Amino acid sequence: MRRKLRCVVVGAGMAGILAAIRLREAGFDDVTVYEKDARLGGTWRDNTYPGVACDVPSHLYSFSFSPNPGWSHDFSPGAEICRYLETVAERYDVARDVRFGTEVTAMAFEGGRWRIETSAGRDVADVVVAATGVLHQPSIPDIEGLDTFSGPVFHSARWDHGVRLEGSRLGVVGTGSSAVQITAAVVDQVRELHLFQRTAQWVLTVPNEPIDDVERTRLAADPAAMLALRADLSTFFEESFANAVVDASSPAMAHLEEACRTSLEEGVRDPVLRERLRPDYRAACKRLVVSPNFYDAMQRDNAHLVTERIARIEPEGVRTVDGELHYLDVLVLATGFRVDRFLRPMQVVGEGGIALDEVWAERPSAYLAVSVPGFPNLFLLNGPNGPVGNFSLIEVAELQMGYVLQLLEELAAGRAAMVSATRDAAERFEASRVEAAQRTVWVTGCSSWYLDDRGIPAAWPWTFDRFRAEMASPRLEDFDLVP
Ligand code: NAP
Repeated sequence: MRRKLRCVVVGAGMAGILAAIRLREAGFDDVTVYEKDARLGGTWRDNTYPGVACDVPSHLYSFSFSPNPGWSHDFSPGAEICRYLETVAERYDVARDVRFGTEVTAMAFEGGRWRIETSAGRDVADVVVAATGVLHQPSIPDIEGLDTFSGPVFHSARWDHGVRLEGSRLGVVGTGSSAVQITAAVVDQVRELHLFQRTAQWVLTVPNEPIDDVERTRLAADPAAMLALRADLSTFFEESFANAVVDASSPAMAHLEEACRTSLEEGVRDPVLRERLRPDYRAACKRLVVSPNFYDAMQRDNAHLVTERIARIEPEGVRTVDGELHYLDVLVLATGFRVDRFLRPMQVVGEGGIALDEVWAERPSAYLAVSVPGFPNLFLLNGPNGPVGNFSLIEVAELQMGYVLQLLEELAAGRAAMVSATRDAAERFEASRVEAAQRTVWVTGCSSWYLDDRGIPAAWPWTFDRFRAEMASPRLEDFDLVP
């Protein structure tokens, strides 16, 4: 007799869609996905700013079981990625399991099950898969006078499409991936673009070619070729980037740095502008920014790089510390996300009444990024300490889901009623992770969202092969399997 498990998935973005599909395929047919929004798509639904695209190649940023011969570009636009996710969800009829417009506000593990509170009522589950994303809660900067600005002001992930940019004086705060994509996309629409740079970024210039009809037809006719392309991209991405950044002294890292230097040297003609754009830390220490045309955009006559710190925001624009007022009509905050939130603000209470907020009071952590001791039958996709910054998060989530399904098999087969990582295993994992993090490029002297409150990278500090190997099968001795 197999135990029937009621499964709840939180979030219907890329990882939640994956979880719903995989759970059903594995025979778990009592699945509910809670999605607070009215649509699927997660980050690709929320981020609609001009120029939004993924900087992982499209054929790699696809589900292994649902390759897409129709990608329009090497790095396809966000709206196309969102449509792709919707198409996959339709193909697998995911929507039948989704409760749209329903936010999970709290859950507590009581009597061997998760008691769940949502904006629509209550539910009970044996298993919860948290697919709540990493970069989903906008970080609004605490800049004096922000609320006094007389024009529209909004975060990059909450783009106001009602605002006309044509002919406007636009200010963009930030120089991360979002700001760089926005700048390149709108510079030719606006009258003036002012980019407020607190820290210069390394930007790797990578062309983004359209994929022509001939290639799309060829891939559609030959699924094996498409899978081979995906595998090639995966190997290339892994060797040139993912494995480079976790070994700061590797030849691959030196090669990547050289490519970034070349992008800057060859991309920016004006030596003064070039120096103002030159970071004073190693490439990829902060999350590397990839763009086909950011440097071109910054050399337009109407583009202004502002490197003086922002003093405050006034009704008419941004005042920098040198006293200059930069007159603006529209202000965009491309200021990133609250990266330590994960499931929160959801109130999660584990065994013995302990709150996740307490366990994560200093910083979030999870054994192998998947399980938190004391929170049985709760599994995280793209949770803390995973390879968030250096690989296709789709492949990461697929590997994690395969791992989770093996743990669920322990429950379904009746070998355990509750499973969560042991404290000892989580502590060992964390200690070796912290040690390995010292070899990564992320600790070589920059501030970034990769670093936790101690200045230690929160991400997976090993190669992607190691991640694959870890995810291949759980070491059951690292789990409390309660009969
Ligand atoms: P981000 O990388 O965190 O960048 C935020 C920017 O805002 C930084 O330049 C930061 O400056 C600046 N900033 C924050 N607070 C500020 C303040 N008070 N005053 C002035 N500047 C301030 O955010 P993001 O660009 O949204 O990207 C977040 C992550 O999302 C990326 O790292 C990437 O993982 C992902 N992403 C990917 C893509 C893609 O695939 N192409 C696109 C967008 C986002 P400092 O550097 O000085 O802190």
